[in-house]
Amino acid sequence: MIVALAGGVGGARLAVGLAAVLPPGALTIVVNTGDDFEHMGFTICPDLDTVMYTLAGVNHPQTGWGRAGETWNFMNEIRRLGGADWFQLGDRDLAVHVLRREALHRGLPLSTVTLDLADRFGIRHTILPMSDTPVRTRVKTMVGGNKGELAFQDYFVRLRCRPRVTGFRFAGARSARVPAALARIMRGCVDAVVICPSNPFVSVAPIFAVPAIRTWLKARTFPVLAVSPIVGGVAVKGPAAKMMRELGLKPSTLEVARHYGKRVDAWVIDQRDAHLRERIAHLDKPVLVADTLMTNATKSAGLAQRVLGFAQQLKNVK
Ligand code: GDP
Repeated sequence: MIVALAGGVGGARLAVGLAAVLPPGALTIVVNTGDDFEHMGFTICPDLDTVMYTLAGVNHPQTGWGRAGETWNFMNEIRRLGGADWFQLGDRDLAVHVLRREALHRGLPLSTVTLDLADRFGIRHTILPMSDTPVRTRVKTMVGGNKGELAFQDYFVRLRCRPRVTGFRFAGARSARVPAALARIMRGCVDAVVICPSNPFVSVAPIFAVPAIRTWLKARTFPVLAVSPIVGGVAVKGPAAKMMRELGLKPSTLEVARHYGKRVDAWVIDQRDAHLRERIAHLDKPVLVADTLMTNATKSAGLAQRVLGFAQQLKNVK
């Protein structure tokens, strides 16, 4: 069993590759729910939906969120009627939010709802939220010398990541309940954990903040591999590099490796960062240099294949 830890875009890109090369039953994708929020009576799960839409091949190819071929009748009408229009909900996307709300309302846990939705989309691999209870990322900010704290989507969508970040907090993490299906996988035989090239601070950190997952990873007998989300000193998408600068870190693969420290056993870095190989190897981490820019499904599958080959090598020496 390979367990992938994923956020949205970067997570989905590698997850789709892993799903292409691993048979169903050999891959579990554990997805960040720190970005989730309540909006218009819906529980919106952006990362789960991005992973689900991407694996189903119905994701929007450019935006990194939402559906391909989306229509906007609902949103246009909401706007016309003076409703909140800062968070875009397309018509097709809305159907998922309605079904999810209905199921959650019936008392089903988010993991069951997620497995069911993925099944309806014809996905044969396992996608699970990191927690069945709400965990909400709070962004600590500094604006004009004033300290503040924002709900994640306020920071990310409404304020377009403009405020300077000083840290993060994951409300609800301490008492987070890992889905029963994930607990079973954690008790079973895991060959490797792959940390997808997702944002370390707001996509992967919330997963680490779930106590049962953190304890399981600490006591591991399998290798943890990470693919760097920083390529050539920049984030492929999103605010990861900006966040690093604001937190006093140089945006680079080396700093990401230092940031993860002992939580990662081996690194997959981009060929554009090959010059950092020695310095990361100095941290006592084996390094694989690869083309990590997953601009299409073929490239995702190619990278997944290399990551799995690397995991196999590490397992043999462990
Ligand atoms: P979000 O929740 O939608 O922001 O998604 P993630 O946290 O999963 O993804 C954002 C991170 O993915 C950013 O730091 C990007 O640099 C990284 N990323 C996106 N696409 C790629 C890619 O093709 N290759 C690599 N190496 N990183 C990527």
